[in-house]
Amino acid sequence: MNNKIAIIGAGLSGLACAIRLAKTGYQVVVYEKNNSAGGKIVELSGKGYRFDTGASILTLPEKVEELFAFVGEPVHDYLKLKKLEINSRFFYPDGTIIDAFSDTNKFAAAIEKQSQVGKEKVIRFLKRNRTLYDLTSEIFLFSPFQKIASVPISKAVKLVTNIFFLKLFKTMHTLNKKWFGDKRIVQLFDRYATYNGSDPYRASATLSVISHLEHNIGSYIPEKGMFQLIKALVLLCKKHGVELKFNTPVQEIKIDNNRIRGLRIDGKIYNYDIIINNTDVFYTYKELLNGYTHSDKIFRRELSSSSIIFYWGVKKTFNNLQVHNILFTENYKEEFDYIFRKKMLYDDPTIYVYISSKVNRSDAPEGSENWLVMINTPNDDNHNWNWLVPQARKSILNKIHRILNVDLEKYIEFEKHSSPSGIEKWTNSYKGSLYGPSSNSVFSVFQRHANFKKTMKGLYFAGGTVHPGGGIPLCMASAKIVSELVYEDFPLENR
Ligand SMILES: Cc1cc2nc3c(=O)[nH]c(=O)nc-3n(C[C@H](O)[C@H](O)[C@H](O)COP(=O)(O)OP(=O)(O)OC[C@H]3O[C@@H](n4cnc5c(N)ncnc54)[C@H](O)[C@@H]3O)c2cc1C
Repeated sequence: MNNKIAIIGAGLSGLACAIRLAKTGYQVVVYEKNNSAGGKIVELSGKGYRFDTGASILTLPEKVEELFAFVGEPVHDYLKLKKLEINSRFFYPDGTIIDAFSDTNKFAAAIEKQSQVGKEKVIRFLKRNRTLYDLTSEIFLFSPFQKIASVPISKAVKLVTNIFFLKLFKTMHTLNKKWFGDKRIVQLFDRYATYNGSDPYRASATLSVISHLEHNIGSYIPEKGMFQLIKALVLLCKKHGVELKFNTPVQEIKIDNNRIRGLRIDGKIYNYDIIINNTDVFYTYKELLNGYTHSDKIFRRELSSSSIIFYWGVKKTFNNLQVHNILFTENYKEEFDYIFRKKMLYDDPTIYVYISSKVNRSDAPEGSENWLVMINTPNDDNHNWNWLVPQARKSILNKIHRILNVDLEKYIEFEKHSSPSGIEKWTNSYKGSLYGPSSNSVFSVFQRHANFKKTMKGLYFAGGTVHPGGGIPLCMASAKIVSELVYEDFPLENR
């Protein structure tokens, strides 16, 4: 028995698995196709600006802290997290502006001031979502719930006795509409479906737990940017003897008689009994497991959305903006129809503007700001992005002009962008989808790919495209689940 573990991909979950398993005593090698770690969490710089390229909102920091506690390292030596006082500023086409304070009472008061929705209603909704999280998270998020024996019994009993509370078969939009009535507040809470690339008009109301994470617990930003998290994990890998092999794309996962045999890299076979796959699950079946398994089932799942992102160095500062800003569209339903059904760019997209230099001053030169400007888009389906990106740029700049009353183009002195095909190229995310399968079905929580495969002993899956889902906290949870499955299935004698 060879207890050396190979991990494919140095994304967030790949690194977190490597650290946990190395700390426990396994020998771990991580193969990464790029020349650096991070996958969807990297950074870019130029002309004095620094940008987080992907993830920008950190919720549930305890999931990061839990990893540091596991290896006995003080997290604050590696990572300084700031809690934002205002999570996001929402701009509506009718001129309404709402600040989502991290303080629940202040947030509810801000909604009451700008709408017909009373403060108490907001507070009750967030309390409800806290209960929803308490009821469901241990089962649906933090245990390998496809492995029935691992589900905590007392939690399962509590869940079953409260099954009607979950509104499992209601969509997020139906719940929000019924609760709030006011179109603007419904839109604000519908938006949380986009946190895993889904459509609130089809996703289950259980996704409302996301608003609990942001509004009851808070939204955080690491000092010096999100990439600090990756840098910290790389340091922990090195400290615990993980071998990191960059510029090393894996070509195939070798399987023999339903058992893992090894990896093909640069045409050569390397033997392993335990492999953790941190790459996009669709890509894995299409490329790395090609020929071994009937993968049609997974390809029937709808993909989560993708995005076009502009990184603009802006030679001006804006007192009317926060770190996270949303410029809503008038017709949200139509926007999601364009993304998921018509698979076309919408000409009045909701725009997300992230300006980390508001709190991390060194991210932009004096008197300037680093704008990450993102819209949700369909996945890449042979779209001509060279033609579409300039179209998107034009409608974004027009909308910024309309809502913020500024001709931003005049102030852009640094510019880069990414498109769905660029995201696929960098991370091997199938068709540029950001979170693997979408949650566009009330059954989606039961359909996520498990962290293991019964018919391929020794193969595990960790990351944002498998259970429990995308986003930083869930990727950290995914890594914990997978590491524990490995301890259980391949115990070390002197652990
Ligand atoms: C634009 C964008 C915005 C986001 N915003 C947020 C946010 O605000 N908050 C939040 O919590 N989350 C956000 N996310 C999601 C979050 O970033 C991801 O869920 C998370 O980073 C995914 O990590 P992962 O472990 O799945 O690995 P990935 O990041 O998918 O990394 C996989 C790694 O595998 C490597 N790889 C692929 N194929 C091979 C191969 N054949 N051989 C070797 N290596 C290979 C890739 O190069 C990559 O490094 C965002 C994501 C994107 C793209």
